Amino acid sequence: MRCVPVFLDEDLVRLYYNGYCNNIMWPLFHSRGLAQDDGLDAYANQMFADVIEENYQQGDVVWCHDYHLMFLPSLLKEKRPNTRVGWFLHTPFPSSETYRTMPSRSQLITAVLAADLVGFHTYDYARNFMSACTHILGLEGTLVGVQDQGRVTRIAAYPIGIDSHRFVQTVQLLEVQDRIKELEGGFGGKKVILGVDRLDVIKGIPEKLLAFEKFLKDNPNWCDKVVLVQIAVPTRTEVPMYKKLARHVHEIVGQINGRFGKLTSVPVHFLDQSLDFNTLCALYAVADVALITSVMDGMNLVSYEFVACQASKKGFVGAAQSLGAGAILVNPWNITDVASSILYALDMPSEEREKRHNHNFMHVITHTCQKWAETFLSELDDTVAEAQLRT
Ligand code: UDP
Repeated sequence: MRCVPVFLDEDLVRLYYNGYCNNIMWPLFHSRGLAQDDGLDAYANQMFADVIEENYQQGDVVWCHDYHLMFLPSLLKEKRPNTRVGWFLHTPFPSSETYRTMPSRSQLITAVLAADLVGFHTYDYARNFMSACTHILGLEGTLVGVQDQGRVTRIAAYPIGIDSHRFVQTVQLLEVQDRIKELEGGFGGKKVILGVDRLDVIKGIPEKLLAFEKFLKDNPNWCDKVVLVQIAVPTRTEVPMYKKLARHVHEIVGQINGRFGKLTSVPVHFLDQSLDFNTLCALYAVADVALITSVMDGMNLVSYEFVACQASKKGFVGAAQSLGAGAILVNPWNITDVASSILYALDMPSEEREKRHNHNFMHVITHTCQKWAETFLSELDDTVAEAQLRT
């Protein structure tokens, strides 16, 4: 695979990966909760810089990914100022009011600014980052990025995509077509609403379940004709906040199934497990509606994967900035709004479904992850070349 691993010992996994990154940075970057005591000492980026140094070859480009590696650009540039360095954030970047509650707010963004190009999934997140640089570091924002003593760090939005070809191809496999038939038989002609999320606080799963409950309550005629299949992939199961979330959603599922279930069927199929790739694609193909209600997300790939697998069904509901015109946009905090959007999606005339699907599908097959990487790397090259011309 041409990968060089950087191994973390158990203490570092606890203090750096689970502790500082996932317990403090992740909630704060998703605007959930304020930063507590910092623990920045455990932010072990030097060992990544050392491994890069051991493997570096003249002319290599270094692309650093995510909130786990915010110090890396500056460590790399200190050692080799001419290395081309990019940094990309896969989560949201919060408003500067939220971000400034981080005790290490200045060190982290100063270190990122050592990169030549800094990328985010949306303009909102790029703008939040620039505003943090202005308010916290007192730096000047320009049309292309942030300027510090004549040096410009370029900042821009590069929404990621998926390897759509892989999904389109997989759905056509004989084995997957058999799986589709099997699933369709299992659901017995009922409409299938699908949710696929890690069981994470940002995914709005309790809100989604409550909206589905309201939909059933408001539309008794649909009770026998629809199921919600929610795949809830276990994640960070040792973190208390996640344990509490699991208990909470199980309670709501019990409440809905207890109230609307029959002796032989229940309206919510809730699975605390992950699926193999072929089954996941089959499920995407079988579903009539994808219900995505993240209250905050970097870029939700499930919405793209669903669209890529929907050759015959052409369904969709969800919240996704990039799929704006094709999706039904909902306010995930508003249970009444989501409940009525579920009805709208289920009742949608086939021409409208087709039109929305075509829009989404074109977007998903043209904005792939390959294209995303090519664009970022070529703009990194251009940025460095332009900077050299200025000096
Ligand atoms: N996924 C998976 N196994 C499953 C369910 C989902 O591997 O059983 C994958 C899914 O295909 C998608 C990813 O998990 O690529 C979730 O990505 P997304 O951006 O939607 O959310 P994230 O988990 O990164 O916050």
